[in-house]
Amino acid sequence: MVSEHSMTVVRLDEISAIERERTASAVQSLLVTRGVIVPNDRRDQLWQPSTWKPGPEAATVVEPTSWFDGFLQTADNGVDISVDRDAYHPVENDEAPRCPRCDAEAPADYTESYAEWLEAWMVEGHEPSFSCGSCYRSTPVGDWNGRFSVLVGAPAVTFLNWPPISHGHLAELRDALGGRTGIVSSHW
Ligand SMILES: [Zn+2]
Repeated sequence: MVSEHSMTVVRLDEISAIERERTASAVQSLLVTRGVIVPNDRRDQLWQPSTWKPGPEAATVVEPTSWFDGFLQTADNGVDISVDRDAYHPVENDEAPRCPRCDAEAPADYTESYAEWLEAWMVEGHEPSFSCGSCYRSTPVGDWNGRFSVLVGAPAVTFLNWPPISHGHLAELRDALGGRTGIVSSHW
């Protein structure tokens, strides 16, 4: 069983459908202009399902790694840019986020009412807030710290099986997405 991972940067604040299209295009041109991604001309549902694949400058946006050449040869190493709202699950990485003020773990109701608040966020667009059990500050779920917790939003860009994206490039992507953004690192 091969293990796979992905990293998604997602915009949390809602915008209109037209703005979503425009923002997704801005993210796409940022990546295409730099040569980070190129169109995937050989899409294959099992081998390479993504719209985009690593471009000639992909190495310039990742942390230095010994397995970069291996990454280029791997199946499912594409990039997807989503315009529509979606929920991004950390799958096996799943863990509760931490309080942005005092770093305490999210309160029990985060886990206990997970299914309900996630559905309300996804279906009704109602992002929940949770109160910290230690410092009592109430914070929208998307602003709790962590990369291993579910987030909902659009647009989003997902890197499949890539080496870690550099801090500088993540900042640029968050900037292009605009508003509040979050990161979900998944593993399955
Ligand atoms: Zn706290």
